[in-house]
This record gives sequence, structure tokens and C-alpha cells, in this order.
Amino acid sequence: MKFDIVTIFPDMVRALLSEGVVGRASGHGGILDIEVHDLRSFTTDRHRTVDDVPYGGGPGMVMKPEPFVRALEKIHKTRGVPDEVVLTSPQGVLFSHPEAVRLSGLRHLVLLCGRYKGVDERVREEVATKEISVGNYVLSGGETPAAVILEAVGRLVPGVVGDIESISSDSFSRNLLDHPHYTRPAILGVRRVPDVLVSGNHAEIRRWRKREAIRRTMKQRPDLLAQAALDSEEQDALKELQQLQ
Ligand code: SAH
Repeated sequence: MKFDIVTIFPDMVRALLSEGVVGRASGHGGILDIEVHDLRSFTTDRHRTVDDVPYGGGPGMVMKPEPFVRALEKIHKTRGVPDEVVLTSPQGVLFSHPEAVRLSGLRHLVLLCGRYKGVDERVREEVATKEISVGNYVLSGGETPAAVILEAVGRLVPGVVGDIESISSDSFSRNLLDHPHYTRPAILGVRRVPDVLVSGNHAEIRRWRKREAIRRTMKQRPDLLAQAALDSEEQDALKELQQLQ
């Protein structure tokens, strides 16, 4: 899958994406083909200006539209026509697992990073095909949101995470939170690992994990649980837990 990110801080974005699962998958000839573009290289003046004062006055600067338009022209020419051009923005639709799944099915995604007061409105209207927010708060730039979106989408692209089962048990993939995880040592102070996990009984372990996933979701995210499609073991666990309440 191809990703293009347009930003005034290319080194910041490269640093965020250079390690871990996404870093490995985007190495030479990897499954993820990521290109980071410096917005300033699409300016035409001596000072490489990317921002200007707002029409109508007021504080703060606005990102100029033309460098974004030229960046997209270059991407079209050198990388092909993208399936979606995402403008990172606190005003966009809230990013979520279902949207990450949808985007991971595309071939080519562009992410635009704003700064200052945001981008000229015409970038939203003419260049972007979609506006995505990573949460109900305001950050000072779109670089970390772009990295968040790329990481959430990239790890769902087949082959990026080695063990597909690991992804399907992660939180949200079935509208359930993940079950608790433990590793050695078996005893830490007064806390010991639940006996069932060291029992070697795989059917019991599987049922315990399902029950704990449901217990957590009930407690922390009842809104998710209402949408979860549970298998028969999970339904039994839910009934049992509801009776305990
Ligand atoms: N004045 C704007 C905020 C601009 S913040 C407003 O109130 O709507 C500057 C840039 O940071 C934005 O253009 C966007 O690219 C990024 N950004 C800030 N918060 C974000 C969020 N919650 N989700 C996605 N991008 C965000």
C-alpha cells in the first residue's frame, strides 16, 4: 500500500514512522511504500513561504493553498492518482477502527498535515477528499495525527503484522476490548498470574480470555459491547457475568 504525507516537518514524520512494525514494513521493498514530502519544496518564493495572514484579519497564520495543490500534482505524476486524500483536522470525522479497516483496503492514501490556524479552506474543498480528526482536542500540527492514522491503517495491511490472529484479538476488532496479558515472572510481590494461564488447559485458557475480554468491555466500554457479535462461549460468559452483577 502506498502512503504520501505532506508536511512542513518531514523529519518529524520520518522519525515517527521509522521504527517498530511500520518501520520494518516500510523498509526497502517492504509492504508499505511511504513517501514524506516537504511542503516547502512546493513553494516558489525565495523564503519558501507556506503561510500567510488571514483574510479578514485576526491572530495566527493560515497555510497557503498553492503548495498543497502543487504537492498533489507531483504525487499524481510520480506516484499515481490516490484513492483518498485525507486532511488531518480537529473538525473531521473521528478516526476509529472501522475507518482504519476501510482505509487499509485502499491502494494509495495521501495525508495532509496542517499547522498554525489550519489550512486555507480551499484545500479542504478542492484537494482533500476526506477530513479526519484523531480526537476532540486541538494539537498544534497534523504530523502526529498523520502518524496515528498511518500506523493504525498500516498494521492492518496483510503481511505487516506477522501473526494475523494477534490483530483479530486486539481491542475494537470485534467490538470487544482485548483480554489481560501476563508474562514471567509468575509471582510479582503479592500478585500472581491467574492459575488458569499456567494450567496448560487450552480450552480453559480460551474461555478465561473470552470471559475477561467481556468483563473489561462491560466495565470500561459498555457502548462497544452493545454492538459486539458474540460467539456461544462469549454469550455464556456474558450471561454468567450479568448474573454476578
Ligand atoms: N484552528 C483549527 C485548529 C488548527 S490546529 C480549528 O480550531 O479547527 C493546526 C493543525 O493541526 C490542523 O490543521 C490539523 O492538521 C492538526 N490538528 C490539530 N488537532 C487535530 C486533531 N484533533 N485531529 C487531527 N488533526 C489535528
